[in-house]
Amino acid sequence: MKTNTLSRRQWLKTSTLASGTVALLGSNLSSLIAAPNHANYGSKTFTMPEDELLRNAPPILKARLSSNENPFGPSAKAKKALEEAIDGSFRYPRAYVRDLAEKIASYEGISAAQIVLSAGSGPVLSAAACYFGLTGGSIISADPTYDNIPEDAEGFYQSKWVKIPLTPDYKHDLDAMEKAIDNTTVLVYVCNPNNPTGTVLDSEKLKAFCERVSKRVPVFVDEAYIDYTDNPNATTLIDCVKKGQNVIVARTFSKLYGFAGLRMGYMIAQPDVIDKLAPYLKGARSISATTANAAMAAYQDKEFLKEALEKTEESKQFLYSILKKAGYDYIPSYTNFVLFPIKMDGKRFTDEMMKRGVSVRFWKFNDKDWCRVSIGTMDEMKSFEEAFVQIA
Ligand code: PMP
Repeated sequence: MKTNTLSRRQWLKTSTLASGTVALLGSNLSSLIAAPNHANYGSKTFTMPEDELLRNAPPILKARLSSNENPFGPSAKAKKALEEAIDGSFRYPRAYVRDLAEKIASYEGISAAQIVLSAGSGPVLSAAACYFGLTGGSIISADPTYDNIPEDAEGFYQSKWVKIPLTPDYKHDLDAMEKAIDNTTVLVYVCNPNNPTGTVLDSEKLKAFCERVSKRVPVFVDEAYIDYTDNPNATTLIDCVKKGQNVIVARTFSKLYGFAGLRMGYMIAQPDVIDKLAPYLKGARSISATTANAAMAAYQDKEFLKEALEKTEESKQFLYSILKKAGYDYIPSYTNFVLFPIKMDGKRFTDEMMKRGVSVRFWKFNDKDWCRVSIGTMDEMKSFEEAFVQIA
């Protein structure tokens, strides 16, 4: 199986080229030129970037279910803290950022040298793509998975992306990933839970994998959705870092904490790895004082997290019932999104949903078209149902 994604990189190239040309040619041609090349859509397996999907969005979306955001956040306490930090915002955010890093470090039982904050986890992933990509070695990942690191490393630098198909139950094939390691491998990327399948790995198996593999190459574990799992403390691989293993854990506030627009994330790793990646990170000054103060409040707001999980579960169960009623299968999800096989071309499906005011994403893999729908409010899920039953 080969994944042929119309990558963000290709998309950036297309749109950058387009916008430059648009300025030269004037508005009549602009709509034609700015439209990306859809020739790839006939190919076997790919996904379409959300930016491109949303180009065709109606002015008002009834339900934005394409980015795995948490519509129940941010919490009231986070919003209050955000406001409270405004008066002091003429100062650089150093103290706020340091306090939050120390808070997380003390909760996780790690040293301050083992954590670095960033504006979302995206910059951490980009830093890893840059650092490991520049070595020119190969990066192993599952396929399909969240592809920022291997795709950027391959596209912008000289790295090779080794894609290992998922197991029949749509999980990372850890055995095959381990076997694929050779003397060119510089990084193994694991997304747990996996985006876009919503599956989670057996913690003991993943920990044993990391213990063995990290002696040979670093393992990057992206835990963006871990807060949605039944037991995040048992599922996280921060323990592996604590044991001294060469494991890099990325976390974000963008999902369960509802901070996708506020931007807060962090990386936990060995101090020497943090030192190596730091030059490629934007550092504390890329985080606003307001966001850091709000994140401090959100981090301690267990009541909000519990409620958001309950509401997510209610909407998810409702989605499952819609799919079952319509005779559709789905992959049981441990996250705030669900992937299910659709019965028509993915691009057509998402276009038809979009016409009805609902944004969802599609994937093509295993010779099937799939829809990934993020979990929204009950109202959004009802809008999903209304649109879905018309085209299902
Ligand atoms: N990792 C995964 C698996 C994701 O799905 C995302 C965003 N959807 C990110 C990282 C990056 O998110 P952010 O930069 O908002 O933390």
